[in-house]
Amino acid sequence: MEIGDRVDCLKGIGPKTAALFEKLKVVTIEDLLRFVPRDYLSYEAPLDIREAQTGRRVTLRGTIQSYVDVKKVRSLTLVTCTVKDGTGSVKLVWYNAPFLKKVFHIGQTFLFVGTLTIRGGQLVMEHPEYYTVQQYDRLMESLQPVYPLTEGLSNKVVTKAAANALPLLEQLEDKMPEQVVERYSLLSLREAIRGSHFPKSTEHLAGCRSRLVFDEFFWFLIRMRLLREQMVKTENRFHITDWSAVEEWKGTLPFSLTKGQEKAIAEIRSDLCGATVMNRLVQGDVGSGKTAVAEMAILAVIKNGYQAAFMAPTEVLAMQHYEGVSRDLEPFGVRTALLCGSTRLSEKRRIYQELEAGKIDLLIGTHAIIQDKVIYQNLALVITDEQHRFGVRQRARLSAKGNDPHVLVMSATPIPRTLAIILYGDLDISIMRDMPAERKPIKNSVVGPKYRAAAYKFMMRQIQEGHQIYIICPMVEASENVEAENVIEYRERLLDVFPETIRIEYLHGRMTPDEKNAVMKAFAERKIDILVSTTVIEVGINNPNATVMMIENAEKFGLAQLHQLRGRVGRGEAQSYCIMLCGTDKKEALDRLQILNESNDGFYIANEDLRLRGPGDFFGVRQSGEILFHLGDIYNHADILKQANDAVAYLEKEGYPIGQLVRQEDLSVVPL
Ligand code: ADP
Ligand code: MG
Repeated sequence: MEIGDRVDCLKGIGPKTAALFEKLKVVTIEDLLRFVPRDYLSYEAPLDIREAQTGRRVTLRGTIQSYVDVKKVRSLTLVTCTVKDGTGSVKLVWYNAPFLKKVFHIGQTFLFVGTLTIRGGQLVMEHPEYYTVQQYDRLMESLQPVYPLTEGLSNKVVTKAAANALPLLEQLEDKMPEQVVERYSLLSLREAIRGSHFPKSTEHLAGCRSRLVFDEFFWFLIRMRLLREQMVKTENRFHITDWSAVEEWKGTLPFSLTKGQEKAIAEIRSDLCGATVMNRLVQGDVGSGKTAVAEMAILAVIKNGYQAAFMAPTEVLAMQHYEGVSRDLEPFGVRTALLCGSTRLSEKRRIYQELEAGKIDLLIGTHAIIQDKVIYQNLALVITDEQHRFGVRQRARLSAKGNDPHVLVMSATPIPRTLAIILYGDLDISIMRDMPAERKPIKNSVVGPKYRAAAYKFMMRQIQEGHQIYIICPMVEASENVEAENVIEYRERLLDVFPETIRIEYLHGRMTPDEKNAVMKAFAERKIDILVSTTVIEVGINNPNATVMMIENAEKFGLAQLHQLRGRVGRGEAQSYCIMLCGTDKKEALDRLQILNESNDGFYIANEDLRLRGPGDFFGVRQSGEILFHLGDIYNHADILKQANDAVAYLEKEGYPIGQLVRQEDLSVVPL
């Protein structure tokens, strides 16, 4: 058998199971080996009987008190016996297991795992699993893998398949340079993979996962380094010489630009006039006014005879930009079009034609705008807003069209500068630290569920003053379907709480783009008072009339994500509020939220968050940022990220032929 063979070559896996694996993107045996559990279960230490709660699965350690009683009740054989520890006693019950009489003897101690109930004033455990003290000690040390699953595929099947695949690990090649493995005392790749499925201990697991995260960061950074090399050599073929329209545009703004905006604009201007192509990241907190900066760049490029493209992560956001930007730039004769996945075919065709003929200057939309079918006449600038960093793949796609346009990436994710420099090593960075002056800081509160009723009353008053509300529903990891149900049910409940005149709608990821757009449009037009939503609302939505953001189960979110959500309010002149409703009184959870309570500064929050988390917090709250790795999390694993960066720099210094580590064709498939 070869490691590259399909999983159905393994014993016990037929074509049906293989098809299920394929849904999880596991096709070959190597895929299976690299299919890392999402969590691990361990057997818990036993509880005192007095402390054990009923109705839950618990482990007790008890000494056999009575002879095992075997009774025939109709067709059943009932086996009972009583055990006790120093704090109480429990009656154990099994059915049809008479052999147990030979297993348990008075005075012996066993561990029992099962659910406790109370019957006739007596604690009872039915059909407990039982272990000797030695057996259980061993179990407590081991960790059972819990895999991401799909319907029809059980954890047991995946676990067994992974175990069967382990011998093929011998064929796995580790491409990591040896000096890196040595210098950073990394576990071998084979051991790391073996241990990530079946760790020997918690420490062993941490070591194994660290190695895998290290690899993920390392290979990403290597590719970026190589890409950077290519970029700095790319000549600027666009001559942006006429800046008169930009000066005029500044005069039409209803506000004066902040210092941060001025600086970013100056830096972009100098890039556009430079010898090589622009690759710049503009990082500014939510509400810092990044769109205006984008507008300036767009106008400059277009007024010099070229085209621009503006890409957003969702249709809702694309539509919002389309409305705002085309309104601002129309007076300058800019012809704009909107292209999304849901755009009608006839309209799409028209856009393709006019774009190629140069009759459209600016195309705004989702990923649709950089697809192969879309041919620009002379594209000079691509801007991406609030989304996964403009991947290497997309850039390769654009370059393949022979354009090499300038690239501007806009992000609100407040990544601490030290990390940003590593992660965006291929980009120049402009940071806007200041906010438009007339903004009122958002007022925050962190409260328990008891406050919910009062919060609804408060919302009612805000609505009466003409404002609008967002409520973010509890986050569930399970599935988008469950999330959708939650949102729908939550709205139903609200309908009972609020008077009939209050208009309440919902938004979730499972709705079609048309449905989502319709809701967002209605919300923007103030036809909805309360919008109940999942985190799909998180990015970039701008409705300055919304003044309250309430987040249910706030403790389940990462701080950076909460900050993004909060950024949906506080965008207009009225005072805005963020209510973080906490489902727990746990001190750590509340302390963490306290950081948000005290500050509205995204960069401060990101730094504090990083400080609070220890390194290697593998299952901590995953931060939603724009840089998504499979296992690694730039916040939780900041230390490993720095180490991987250090490793790449070290190889470079040593004159290691980095270029040979990655094949040219693999350069365009960075996993982002
Ligand atoms: P973000 O950086 O989150 O993308 P936006 O560009 O959406 O922020 O700007 C948020 C709001 O602030 C918009 O309504 C915009 O018109 C306004 N705005 C932008 N710059 C300024 C400024 N310098 N002074 C006042 N308001 C501004
Ligand atoms: Mg924005």
